[in-house]
Amino acid sequence: MKAAILKSAQPVSATPLVIEEVPRPQLVPGHLLLRVLACGVCRTDLHIVERDLRPLRPQLIPGHQIVGEVIAGESKESPVGSRVGVSWMGGVDGDCWYCRHKMENLCDRPTFTGYTVDGGYAEYALARADFTYPLPAGLDDIHAAPLLCAGIIGFRSLRVACVEPSERVGLFGFGSSASLTIAVLQSWKCEVYVSTRGESHRKLATSLGATWVGNETEKPPVELDRAVTFAPSGDVVVSALGSLRKGGVVAINAIHLDHMPQFDYDKLLWGERVIRSVANMTRADARDFLKIAHEIRIRPQVTVFPLAQANEALQAIKHETVNGAAVIVP
Ligand SMILES: [Zn+2]
Ligand SMILES: [Zn+2]
Repeated sequence: MKAAILKSAQPVSATPLVIEEVPRPQLVPGHLLLRVLACGVCRTDLHIVERDLRPLRPQLIPGHQIVGEVIAGESKESPVGSRVGVSWMGGVDGDCWYCRHKMENLCDRPTFTGYTVDGGYAEYALARADFTYPLPAGLDDIHAAPLLCAGIIGFRSLRVACVEPSERVGLFGFGSSASLTIAVLQSWKCEVYVSTRGESHRKLATSLGATWVGNETEKPPVELDRAVTFAPSGDVVVSALGSLRKGGVVAINAIHLDHMPQFDYDKLLWGERVIRSVANMTRADARDFLKIAHEIRIRPQVTVFPLAQANEALQAIKHETVNGAAVIVP
């Protein structure tokens, strides 16, 4: 099969992914063999490819927002011929302290799709059957793919930020994940305040009905109940903190931050304000989000790249030249 392979992590400008023929993965018990129909490109892929995250394997097929057709394997829920989604969380051990306390997202021995095991920048992929999700028929492949991490982890961020209906919520950064999250917030009748650099991202936020849109130096005109930061920047976290009311929460939707600057405790954190990171996802997050996404008919804005242009897809994410999501179709 054809696959985009990372052999040596380096800046995407050096086109680190190489398109090569490799053996198709072999089916193993408890797994599904999938023909990849589409695979979303996530900022985490960029962090893996550029070595912001530690390399774990000598070579790797990235990609963890996989829409695939089951071509072999055992699953009552998803028979051969059906379509499933695969996300970042590719498996857990099931018996560590976190797994036993309903926090499988924090598992001590996790499997991450496209990081600890090969992912979906390829024609075929293998996935643990109990970490796949049936996809509704009305949702096509390329529009389903970005829901599988950007959507699910954006949704988890709202849970981590403890968002309640009708609250004032800030979204700091407006890439793929934020552009899906806004639809959920609107269905909860929340007011959404978007702060983002990049004119095209501000235009997208406006077109999606944000209550207020500003650039990264502008402060929302009201105090926020909750904020979610999507940019991989500690400065953005501090800006978000500075926009909160007392008792408000900032959830950081980023697996990697450039740095965390010093900030004024008395002004910014005192008053029981909270900063929390958002780490991975649970299967319940995935199922709950996919159900909501279907009910409110979320249709992400997508730009499609052929597998041969996987490097270009990552460059587009890095330089924010795509609006919404980038999706690879093999
Ligand atoms: Zn565990
Ligand atoms: Zn992701």
